[in-house]
Amino acid sequence: MGRVTSEQVRDWLRRYADAIAEHRVELVRLDTAIGDGDHGTNMDRGMRKAIEKLDGSAPGDIGADLKAVGMALVSSVGGAAGPLYGTLFLQMGSAAAGKDELDLDGWAAAVEAGVKGLQARGKAEAGDKTMVDALLPALEALRQGGELGEALRRSADAAEAGMKATIELEARKGRASYLGPRSVGHQDPGATSSYLLLRTAADALA
Ligand code: ADP
Ligand code: MG
Repeated sequence: MGRVTSEQVRDWLRRYADAIAEHRVELVRLDTAIGDGDHGTNMDRGMRKAIEKLDGSAPGDIGADLKAVGMALVSSVGGAAGPLYGTLFLQMGSAAAGKDELDLDGWAAAVEAGVKGLQARGKAEAGDKTMVDALLPALEALRQGGELGEALRRSADAAEAGMKATIELEARKGRASYLGPRSVGHQDPGATSSYLLLRTAADALA
């Protein structure tokens, strides 16, 4: 069965940073509608820092790379999403500590550890209109198993559907929750950046 190498994980992280830069204005627009408009700039700054860190170190340890990204996000991004994504990457890194490749089970276990850590920190459940609404369906899709590439594409598709489903939801966590029912009708910015995380994973790792 297929495997994910440490070079591919680095390729994924670079593609994610590129996707965030490319979608920065869109993420700002989404966060302006139901938040304070900083999500795109926050994530862009954090991922740039993260890639700088990777560029200064040798590849080979997937866990170390993921932890470096998590540390960069925690230390350089304010607001809710920086520490939450930071926790996601730190926990993924712990699950993949010392590994130079992962099979589908290993990848799914890392994603699961990341999402659990993020939920432990942010206390968001499915349906609260947050990044969790893209991440949980993606994790479920990975857990269905099968061929690696196919599972990665399935998980990106599930994240996309979860992201779109946030439009109809009322926010119960984060700044958007202050709007109550007025948050309905807008796609969640964090679910959108999480969708990009899973789509770039499918592009780089499949
Ligand atoms: P802030 O809300 O502090 O300005 P960002 O704009 O960078 O931070 O991120 C907003 C996103 O963070 C939201 O769209 C939502 O997806 C996510 N978010 C906010 N609070 C939580 C939480 N408690 N758990 C999970 N995700 C959250
Ligand atoms: Mg914001």
